[in-house]
Amino acid sequence: MEKSIKESAAPVLYLVVPCYNEEEVLPETSKRLLAKLKELEKTRTIVPSSRIVFVDDGSRDQTWNSIEKLHSENSQIIGIKLAHNAGHQNALLAGLMFAKEKADVVISLDADLQDDIDAIDKMLEKFTEGNEVVYGVRSSRKKDTVFKRQTALFFYKLMRAMGVEVVHDHADYRLMSKRALNELAEFKEVNLFLRGIVPLIGLKSATVKYERGERFAGESKYPLHKMVSFALDGITSLSIKPIRFILAVGVLMFIVGVIMTIYALVQKILGNTLSGWTFLACSIWALGGVQMISLGVIGEYIGKIYRETKARPRYIIEKTVE
Ligand code: UDP
Ligand code: MG
Repeated sequence: MEKSIKESAAPVLYLVVPCYNEEEVLPETSKRLLAKLKELEKTRTIVPSSRIVFVDDGSRDQTWNSIEKLHSENSQIIGIKLAHNAGHQNALLAGLMFAKEKADVVISLDADLQDDIDAIDKMLEKFTEGNEVVYGVRSSRKKDTVFKRQTALFFYKLMRAMGVEVVHDHADYRLMSKRALNELAEFKEVNLFLRGIVPLIGLKSATVKYERGERFAGESKYPLHKMVSFALDGITSLSIKPIRFILAVGVLMFIVGVIMTIYALVQKILGNTLSGWTFLACSIWALGGVQMISLGVIGEYIGKIYRETKARPRYIIEKTVE
């Protein structure tokens, strides 16, 4: 059924763009994306009822006014205003869940257009070939700072080591079919890490390579502390390896403890009870530290469980313009 729709007619495409304090980029971004839609309509790759959805993630600047203005100038632009800053992943989800009702296929991308929009053509091609998910993969990160490149590399290595399946150098530039989005909607978790969840859906997928560009205006909404907490969130919401690691450390320390007890008893028998004070003092701190870290890691998971059990809404839509 799904297949025959794809073959018989061009699909309805929705582009979903999360925006947090993006007033500087929106006019240019919407211009470029509208031009892209027009181009795709001309070649009959998509139908004219295709749309661009800007999700305002509780911005503090003029982002929403800008979206309303763009909507009044062009009805192909839809705006969703979230009631507060729900975070990139939740804002993206809000847009995807909105779009899946109306579109056959949805592509998510960042407001700064660092992701080359010409890759959309190739993504749609892969979709027509029967792929339900198409991942945009960065072929080079030449334009990223050395710092961003290195931290990103470390991030992907760490994720892999923790047993989380992520597509290397893929962020949130991806195509998803209606079917894939319906499956995604079944993942109810509050701790949302989309690039770890989408591979779990497991439908037929493909990748498309593109060059990652620079932000043409404004600045990154992902400062270092957000990047670090995003990475930690990703690991702890998809893997329990850190807890296993603690168990391993605990076992190791117990073995060391047994050896130390034997050593201490031998020293006692030999009458050298005063030796080893420095060692003892250091051990207390080292062991205390390890225990605190372990509690912290376990606490992180308990915090996640706490948030999951409450099952609060992941985003709240204040209003939409369409
Ligand atoms: N973003 C968002 N909510 C946030 C932070 C970011 O919706 O709390 C959006 C932002 O507007 C952009 C995308 O997420 O469209 C990626 O952010 P950015 O380009 O600043 O990240 P970077 O490319 O520097 O990693
Ligand atoms: Mg960016």
